[in-house]
Amino acid sequence: MTEEKNVAENTEEWTFTDLDISEEVLRAVADMGFTTPSHIQAKGIPAVLSGRDVIGHSQTGTGKTAAFGIPAIEMLKPELKGKTQVLIMCPTRELAQQVATQMRNFSKYKQGVGIVCVYGGQSIELQINALKRSPEVVIGTPGRIMDHLRRRTLKLANLQIIILDEADEMLNMGFRDDIETVLKEVPEQRQTLLFSATMSPEIMAITKNYQNDPLIIKVVRKELVLPNIKQFLYDIPRGTKMEVLCRLIDYYNPKRSMIFCNTKKMVEELSEKLRNRGYFAETLHGDMKQFARNAVMESFKKGRIDMLIATDVAARGLDIDHVEYVINYDLPQDMEFYVHRIGRTGRAGRTGTSLTLITGNKEFAALRDLERFTKQKLELAPIPTLAEVEGARASRIALDIEQTIEKGLLEKHKGIVAGLLEKGIPAEDIAAGVLKMLYASDVEYIAGGEDSIKKEEGRIWRSRQKIKGKDGGISVNPRAPRVRLMFNVGKKDRVLAGNFVGAIAGETGLPGKGIRSIEIFESYSFVEVPKDMADIIISKLTGLKMKGKRLKVEKVKMDIKK
Ligand code: ADP
Ligand code: MG
Repeated sequence: MTEEKNVAENTEEWTFTDLDISEEVLRAVADMGFTTPSHIQAKGIPAVLSGRDVIGHSQTGTGKTAAFGIPAIEMLKPELKGKTQVLIMCPTRELAQQVATQMRNFSKYKQGVGIVCVYGGQSIELQINALKRSPEVVIGTPGRIMDHLRRRTLKLANLQIIILDEADEMLNMGFRDDIETVLKEVPEQRQTLLFSATMSPEIMAITKNYQNDPLIIKVVRKELVLPNIKQFLYDIPRGTKMEVLCRLIDYYNPKRSMIFCNTKKMVEELSEKLRNRGYFAETLHGDMKQFARNAVMESFKKGRIDMLIATDVAARGLDIDHVEYVINYDLPQDMEFYVHRIGRTGRAGRTGTSLTLITGNKEFAALRDLERFTKQKLELAPIPTLAEVEGARASRIALDIEQTIEKGLLEKHKGIVAGLLEKGIPAEDIAAGVLKMLYASDVEYIAGGEDSIKKEEGRIWRSRQKIKGKDGGISVNPRAPRVRLMFNVGKKDRVLAGNFVGAIAGETGLPGKGIRSIEIFESYSFVEVPKDMADIIISKLTGLKMKGKRLKVEKVKMDIKK
């Protein structure tokens, strides 16, 4: 096995013309708006063209389809016209259809390339008829492919290339037996390509049995291209997640957004809660019937639905374009999911935004992992205040009105206004009355009272806001439970009480009066702080230098009773 990791080598400077691709496919690729091949394409296309077995491991959205699809089209043999030469297996109907669409696009200037897509949930007779037209390329889900093999409506005696797309996902979905059966059935002399966003030991085991000296092309995380994605993190008080979500939706007013939850149950619950608050969001998760999922996908793609709540598995690999905002309602359990999720936005050169909600110290600590994982510094953003949300709504309404006026054709409307003015009703009242009719619910929101989140005190996010020079600071409740922290610096390091106060206040915004009972011993010191600030202080100060020494901070087990 040969492994090519980190295949960077300035593939950015390559063009598709460097890749030994036919005139027809080059034209098709240009039509699709591809100019520079992605890494997986720059390395994968020549490898597949050379006839090798390939394992392509790169994140969702990195262009794996073209990496195997383009060379597969190029390698079709004219002498085998009318025989199935390429078989592509995909985990879901949606993915199969997406691959089929791309394959049709790649081959549109090539004469007579037949492409057929088969999947469960569609009439098998239709598919049998399509297969009778002798397609060179067949794409499908493992179950349905097996079905056609059994019925002998799909014959693989002349197969040249078999491709497992999102192989790992197919295993997760329980297609292992089907995949192996198909792999056993295809001719020995074939090329086996496996592409996936994740690789498990299980999938590697399969590759050992069914691939021949595969070239592994792995685009490692460091190269993940996420520069077009603005990533905002919101550290929010417990119990206000829903409120903050609605606020963010109102504030940003995204045209197309995906909201991610960790479980099917959460997806359902969230959609219900949003609906109760007057937001309409559709759901996508693994328990839904295929036709229901398709309907949702269609509606989302066509723009009939602008908010989609999904689990990671259901959304995996789906090529949904133009998602403006990705909202991580739940912090993903696996950091890799974070990258998959936010990869839904900012595709193909567009800019996108991700909003991630975190609650509690544990999730806060997970941020560090996230930063390490994405190799990017992630910034906490202040939660928009009610006033800011209101401001955003008001300016949207004002913009709506201005645009309507600009478009003109208001003669009849002006006639009605004139009538009202004649009755002596002031213009301002008339306009306000119309607004009330049109924007009742929005305006009511604007009129809304207190800021419930503002009332929360002593929360981490408020301290963060303070650092950012925003409103609010941590108010210290003198009766709040406290805890002692032990620092690995003491007299011998010449630290003074002021060093602790300065470091803690500076890093976390906790005011000096929240820091008490500083005791400095020879080689260590104790500092007493509010219990709910302890974790954040530890995470912010650990590793920092004090008097030239790298800090270690830990909680002293015993809580302080006072
Ligand atoms: P993956 O299978 O790795 O998740 P896809 O093959 O579905 O990724 O590609 C993701 C999106 O990026 C698709 O919309 C595709 O058209 C687009 N794309 C792929 N390759 C390129 C490229 N070289 N330049 C621009 N866009 C590309
Ligand atoms: Mg794919």
